[in-house]
Amino acid sequence: MTMDTANIKLPVYLDYHASTPVDPRVLEVMLPWFTEKFGNPHSSSHSFGREAAEAVEKARGQVADLIGADPREIIFTSGATESNNLAIKGAANFERHHRNKRRRIVTLVSEHKCVLESVRDVEREGFETVFLPVDQDGRVSMADLDRVVDDETLLVSIMAANNEIGVLQPLEEIGALTRERGVLFHTDAAQAVGKIPIDVEGANIDLLSISGHKLYGPKGVGVLFMRRRPRARIEPLFSGGGQERTIRSGTLAPPLVVGIGEACAIAGQELEEERGRLTALRHRFLERFNARVGGAVLNGSLENRLPGNISLRIEGVDALALIDLAPDLAFSTGSACTSDVVEPSHVLRAIGLEDGQAGSSIRLGLGRFTTADEVDFAVDHLAEAVGQSRRQAGAA
Ligand SMILES: *Cc1c(COP(=O)(O)O)cnc(C)c1O
Repeated sequence: MTMDTANIKLPVYLDYHASTPVDPRVLEVMLPWFTEKFGNPHSSSHSFGREAAEAVEKARGQVADLIGADPREIIFTSGATESNNLAIKGAANFERHHRNKRRRIVTLVSEHKCVLESVRDVEREGFETVFLPVDQDGRVSMADLDRVVDDETLLVSIMAANNEIGVLQPLEEIGALTRERGVLFHTDAAQAVGKIPIDVEGANIDLLSISGHKLYGPKGVGVLFMRRRPRARIEPLFSGGGQERTIRSGTLAPPLVVGIGEACAIAGQELEEERGRLTALRHRFLERFNARVGGAVLNGSLENRLPGNISLRIEGVDALALIDLAPDLAFSTGSACTSDVVEPSHVLRAIGLEDGQAGSSIRLGLGRFTTADEVDFAVDHLAEAVGQSRRQAGAA
């Protein structure tokens, strides 16, 4: 079969978990804030500052609407890495300095590195930490959680959706448990917000992290949601002018803030339709790929999964070799943050894969600009590469 690739731009981008392009509609609302509208949003003595402040407040409302929050609960940061650090270290520091009763912090072994490292950091400050395992599907066991969350526990940090295998955690069940026991619930929702419905009320979430560049907004901006009632108390990490309700000092970047606001508004409007479209594209990929290539297994739960995630383990191939054999496809082997370190992904290990199985796993991320033609091209190109790789391995 020969494919008409005339209207496909190469390489085909299939790495939407690493980053998403800025939606052109988002870029358009950002641009004036780089040029004529340059005021400092914290300068209230003239119109330059006031118009920037108004734009920031509009964006705050757009973000809040997407997750069912109050605009006063939205803190702008530099990204989800900062939001996660702020939530975990900020909660630990507040407890240590003001109450000093709860000592335990609970998270998952499959979290993003910035959560794992933040938890390690507070462990060095004297907190007791628990890194819960996940099952073969990549999900937390509620029985495990029930066992370690008690009146000594300060915080549970469990991600909404995994950045490698796309597996979703049961946020509502976790939130019901933490709220009942007076424990803070933080969720790293960098991959989930804008892709699946997230409601901070329904899931009793106290702290939630968002990243601009995972939902078609700009890089370098993020959000920390901080519940007002019951109040989630955290200490700031930065000293300074006391911006963002004293929680995050520093001059806000209006182009980025306006961008993440617009990105949230668009994501909210299009979420249901886009979720259906991506689920269908993923189905199309898996069906066609499995018809062409034997021995491919999806890593993690299919049912509880981000619509655009395909984490595949392909028997008898080396993922790194596959990347070289399929230069017209942009995809990854593990998580982007660790892909220059040749070490099996901690997430794939967490769901029970042997090092060899992890080494034959690839991650494809479909997103807003992925088309059916691109999916078909990817199936073709990848199937050829797998065949080639297996022949080479067989000949060696
Ligand atoms: C990308 C990502 C982060 C880091 O977000 P930045 O905004 O790039 O700092 C954290 N957690 C998850 C799950 C992510 O996917």
